[in-house]
Amino acid sequence: MYALRVATRAVGRVAATGTLQPTRAAVGLVRLPLRGVVTSIPKARGRDQDLEISAKGQGGEVRMQAAAAGIADVTMKHDESMLKLSWSTGGTDTYPYVWLRDNCQCPLCFHSGSRSRVHLIEELDLNARPRSAKVLGGQAVEVQWSDGHVSRYEASWLLPRAFQSAENYIRKPSYKLTPHPWGSELMEDLPRASFPEMMSDDAALLKWSQQLEIFGFVMVSGAPAEPGQVRRLAERIAFIKKTHYGEDFTVIVKDDPSNVAYLSGPLQLHADLPYYQYKPGVQFIHCIKQYEGNGGDSQVTDGLHAANLLRENHPQKYRILTSTPVDWFDEGGRENHVFLCSTDSYGDVCRINFSQPQRDSFFDIPAEDVAAWYDAMKTFHRLLADPKNCLHFKMTPGTIMTFDNLRILHGRTAYLSGYSARHIEGCYVDWDEVRSRRHVLEKKLGVNSRRLVRREE
Ligand SMILES: [Zn+2]
Repeated sequence: MYALRVATRAVGRVAATGTLQPTRAAVGLVRLPLRGVVTSIPKARGRDQDLEISAKGQGGEVRMQAAAAGIADVTMKHDESMLKLSWSTGGTDTYPYVWLRDNCQCPLCFHSGSRSRVHLIEELDLNARPRSAKVLGGQAVEVQWSDGHVSRYEASWLLPRAFQSAENYIRKPSYKLTPHPWGSELMEDLPRASFPEMMSDDAALLKWSQQLEIFGFVMVSGAPAEPGQVRRLAERIAFIKKTHYGEDFTVIVKDDPSNVAYLSGPLQLHADLPYYQYKPGVQFIHCIKQYEGNGGDSQVTDGLHAANLLRENHPQKYRILTSTPVDWFDEGGRENHVFLCSTDSYGDVCRINFSQPQRDSFFDIPAEDVAAWYDAMKTFHRLLADPKNCLHFKMTPGTIMTFDNLRILHGRTAYLSGYSARHIEGCYVDWDEVRSRRHVLEKKLGVNSRRLVRREE
């Protein structure tokens, strides 16, 4: 059991630099940017074996030692209602009695097959306290509670659950992969996947899902240039996300457009369906027939990168966009009240809503705040559209753009209606399904994506 601790990190705030050090084993101390990531943790061959761990940040690559941790001692602190553990490699952690009782791992309290807590809330004693607590072989703690119930907790289970915000920060990316924000330099090494390989090879499908999560964008090529392919791909992954447009949608030039996407004028950078409470997570756009004249080019930009730039260079404008509610509207759709940039409980941007046609004219904020909001929104749009940040290319028949609709903004340049046909088909799949597919494939193929930082590692 090995763990790393980021020593200085307040939840919800991002500092410029931090310190990464091995937990419970002060063999080495290194400094690197807080956004640094651990790139390799070799598999332990046995207990009590020191490991060499590599970490990479903007400041370069570092290597450090981490020692295996066991439990040296356990003390009951009845005055604080906490159990205090001393680790064999140094350091202590305290665990509240009520939390330990709630998380008893015995078969009466916890069903290991479904990894579910099964005891009843009514029966949880808020004042539970141990009669005794002892260390078992340096690798577990046994607690006998005052009502006679006995619980056993393994060191390898307790350590990652230590009540420290730093431990929580390390655990955070375990479900989601750490995103890699990008500018237009991505064009030189575009994340790519092959449609035939994704359809037949689980490893190719897994690699696509990893890249999509890290970069938010993967260009898939080699699909037949005929309708029905986005559905095949979506159903190979999981289930199509239904919207009020149906299961899949077709974008062609129409005489009487009911949506701006059917016009041949430019389609400004936007995310789809900002007025949905559960906005579709991943979007697929298949080019079946491309416009043959000049125009009809695709534009793709990383909203996360633009939001990071806004936060660094215009903190006040970033604050405005992440705290001002905006109404979104579409005919036949729904209205919703969400920020242009939404942040999660860690203060990281988790959803970007941006669509000029679908921003409602209702704006429920004080009149004197309106001009500053427009100024912030225009600055954000300049960052999105800046050629340093925005990709520009023309899709060819048989390619499918796959991208994160919560993070990536997409658009299309104008083209002359009626000159030649253009036929696009699209659909959505939700992130929960894509991530679930990744987890299942990881298990099947014995891969740990958490160690992934870049595509080649
Ligand atoms: Zn129990």
